[in-house]
Amino acid sequence: MHAFDWLGEWAVKGENDPLASFWMPFTANRAFKANPRQLVSASGMHYQSGDGRQILDGTSGLWCSNAGHCRPEITEAIAKAAATLDFAPTFQLGHPLPFELAQRIAALMPEGLDRIFFTNSGSESVDTALKIALNIQRAKGQGTRTRLIGRERGYHGTGFGGISVGGLVNNRRAFGGGLPGVDHIRHTHDIERNAFTRGFPQHGAELADDLQRLVDLHGADTIAAVIVEPMAGSTGVLIPPTGYLQRLREICDRHGIILIFDEVITAFGRVGGATAAGQWGVTPDIITMAKGLTNAAVPMGAVAVKRELHDAVIDSVPGGIELFHGYTYSGHPLASAAGLATLDLYARDGLFDRATELGTYWEDAAHSLKGARHVIDIRTIGLVAGIELEPRPGAPTARAMELFHACFDNGLLVRATGDIIALSPPLIVEKAQIDEMFGKVGELLGRID
Ligand code: PMP
Repeated sequence: MHAFDWLGEWAVKGENDPLASFWMPFTANRAFKANPRQLVSASGMHYQSGDGRQILDGTSGLWCSNAGHCRPEITEAIAKAAATLDFAPTFQLGHPLPFELAQRIAALMPEGLDRIFFTNSGSESVDTALKIALNIQRAKGQGTRTRLIGRERGYHGTGFGGISVGGLVNNRRAFGGGLPGVDHIRHTHDIERNAFTRGFPQHGAELADDLQRLVDLHGADTIAAVIVEPMAGSTGVLIPPTGYLQRLREICDRHGIILIFDEVITAFGRVGGATAAGQWGVTPDIITMAKGLTNAAVPMGAVAVKRELHDAVIDSVPGGIELFHGYTYSGHPLASAAGLATLDLYARDGLFDRATELGTYWEDAAHSLKGARHVIDIRTIGLVAGIELEPRPGAPTARAMELFHACFDNGLLVRATGDIIALSPPLIVEKAQIDEMFGKVGELLGRID
C-alpha cells in the first residue's frame, strides 16, 4: 500500500479525520483540509502530488531547495551522519562537522564576516542576530543602544524579535504587539515610479534616509541595529533601488549602528553569488541565513558575524561563557553533514553562477507577461520573479490565491503572497522549464477573473 493511501479515507470525517490533528502553519486550515493538496515525493525539479501528478517546482519549496530535490549527494551524507553520530552537544563539547561547516560558510561570506553561529531556522537566525547585536553594543560599552529597527514589509520569521522588527502587522497583532523599543523605516515598494523594472529599480535610494529620520527622532545612542532583507522575498519580491543599500550602510557607519542583512532567502545563489551582500557589494556587520544552507534537507540556520564584533563580545568576558545563547541542536551532526554536502554540490555544479548565466533568459521570460490580464508589475533579479496582480475589488489577495491553486492543479508550484505571485525555482532549472513556468502562469492568468 502506498504510504499516503490513507488520504483516500478523507471522506471519513469527524473523529477519524486524518487531517485534523496537524495544526498547519501560515495556512487557512479549514480551507486546506476541505481540499487538501499534498506533496508526497520529490526529485530534482519536480514534486509528485498526492494524486500522482508531477508538479514543476517554481519556488524551490519555500525558497530553500536551491539544488533541487532529493539530491543523493546530500541524502547519502545525512544517512552516513545519522549512522555515525546521531547527536552530540555543542555546549562545552564539540564534534568535527560544524567546525568544518563554519569554516566553509565563512569562506563564502563577504570579507571579515567569518565567525559563524548555528541555529535551526531562519527565525532563530534572526532572533540570534538581534541578540548578538545587543550583546555587541553592550560589550563595546554602548549599553544604552537597545532599540532595534526593521522595515515596513520586512519578513524576519516568527520569533518575538522577528515579528517585532518585521513589517507585517498581521504577524504581530494576535500576539500583543511584539517587543518594545522597535521602530521601522519605510519600505521601498513603489510601482508608480518603478513598474516593470528589470533588476534594481532606478528610483528610491533616498528612502534609506528614513533611517536618518529615526536617528534624529530617537537619538543614535538608543539604536543598536537595523535589519533588512537585501531583497525582500516573501513579502512580494521587493528589490532594493540602485544605491539604497549603500546609503543604509553609510548611515549605519555614521552613527555606530549595526547593519544586519537577513539573507535567509538571498544567500546561496538565489541572486547570483553566495550572498546578496557579496554580489551587490555592500557589506553588513551580520548576515542571517538558513534555507539553502542545507538545501532544506535538514533544518539549519546560521549567523555570520564580523570578526571584530565577535571579538568584542569574546574579549568582554575574560573567563567563562561569553554569549549566553544557543540551541540544543546548534551544529547538529545531520544538519552539518547536509550543509557540507550541499556546499560541495553548489561548488561542483557551479550553481551560484546559474542566476547570472540564466539571468537574461529568466528576465525575458518573466517580462513576456507584461500586458497579461491582471498584471500590474513584474520584478526580476537573479532567479527570482515577482508578478504583481491588480487586487480584485473587495477581495484583495484572492486572485493570487486562485492562481496559486490553478497552477498547482496544472502541474506548477508558485507562491502567492498578498497579490503577488513569486517564482524562485531551484538553480538547476533549465530554459525549457522556465518557458513552461511563465507559459503556464500566462495561460492561467487568462482564466482567472
Ligand atoms: N527571514 C527571511 C528573510 C525569510 O524569508 C524567512 C522565511 N521565509 C525567515 C526569516 C524565517 O525563516 P524560517 O521560516 O526558517 O524560520
